[in-house]
Amino acid sequence: MSIQLDTSGLDSFKTEIAEASSLEELYNVKVKYLGKKGLISGLNKQLGKLPPEERKDAGQRIGALRAEFEEHHDARESTLKQEEKSRKLESEFIDITMPGVPFKGGGIHPVTRVYDEIVDIFTSMGFEVALGPEVESDFYNFEALNIPKEHPARDMQDTFYIGEEVLMRTHTSPVQVRTMLKEKPPVKIIAPGKVYRCDSDVTHTPMFHQVEGLLVDDKTTFGDLKGTLTVFIKRMFGDDVPVRFRPSFFPFTEPSAEVDMGCVICGGKGCRVCSHTGWLEILGSGMVDPEVYKHVGYDPEGCRGYAFGMGIERIAMLKYGIDDLRLFFENNLKFLKQF
Ligand SMILES: [Zn+2]
Repeated sequence: MSIQLDTSGLDSFKTEIAEASSLEELYNVKVKYLGKKGLISGLNKQLGKLPPEERKDAGQRIGALRAEFEEHHDARESTLKQEEKSRKLESEFIDITMPGVPFKGGGIHPVTRVYDEIVDIFTSMGFEVALGPEVESDFYNFEALNIPKEHPARDMQDTFYIGEEVLMRTHTSPVQVRTMLKEKPPVKIIAPGKVYRCDSDVTHTPMFHQVEGLLVDDKTTFGDLKGTLTVFIKRMFGDDVPVRFRPSFFPFTEPSAEVDMGCVICGGKGCRVCSHTGWLEILGSGMVDPEVYKHVGYDPEGCRGYAFGMGIERIAMLKYGIDDLRLFFENNLKFLKQF
C-alpha cells in the first residue's frame, strides 16, 4: 500500500483569503495555514512517513502550496491596506483652506529686557559681568562691606536668614567682595542678579534684581563716577534728562551720593510719582571706603575706586511708567504682552 501526502482541508484557503474583510482576519487565516501548527506547515511532518522515492516530489508540492498561499495572501493584503488607507483619508479629511489657530508668540519679560539693556550699556564702557551665589555668608554680605554685627546699618535691611551665619544676599555687593579677594586691581565689574529682602508692598517685593558696579585702580576720582553714571542714565532714558548727585550715606562708600534724574513722568514739573519734586532717585553710589580694601587685602593707600548700585525693577518701572512693582511678578499675560 502506498502512502500519499494528505492535503485534505487545504482546498478552502483561497476562499478564506478572499473573504477576509480586514487585515486582522487575513492574519488569522495566515496563522491557520502557515503558523507553527498550521495546516500547510503540518504537512512537513508527514514527509518522514513517506517512502523515500516520494519525498522529493511531496516536498515540492508542499513548497508550491505555500507559494500559492502566499501569492493569494499578499494580493489580498495589499488590497485591504489600500482600502484601509482610503477609509482613513476620507475620515481624516483636513480642510487646508480653514483659517488657522493664531500662534501666541512669547516675549522677553520687561525686567529681563531692562537687565540686558543695563548690562549692554556698562559692558560697552568696559565693565565685565561678575556673578555670585544668592545664598551668602554673613561675612560677604555684611562684615567685609564694613557692616559689622552691631552696626546700625544692618537695620536698614530686612534679611532672610537661613542660619546664624548664612543668609539670602540682600544686595549683589558680596560679588564685589568675592571679586576683590580673587583679583588684584585694576578691577572693573558689574554684578547683576537677584537679591532678597523681607519686604512686600507696591514698591517692594521679597525678591528683586540689582546691578552693582565696582571700579578700583590707583587714580579713579569722584569725577569718573559722575561721568560714568551720567552717561548710563542718558543712554537709558535719553540725552535730555537732567541728572544730579546728592550727598548720602552708605557704610561701604565715603563720600557717598544718591543720584537723581529729572522725573520722566512729568518732565520735572512735579507729579505724584516724584512726590512733586521733579526728581526721581535711581542710584546709590560713592567712593569705596578704605575700610573695605582692608577686608580684601588691598592697600588702602594705593587704591582709588568707586561703587554704585541700582534696582533693576525700579529702572524698568520708570522706563515703562509702571506704578506697581508687584505687576512684574504676577505673570499676567495682559500686562506682560504690552512690552
Ligand atoms: Zn514727576
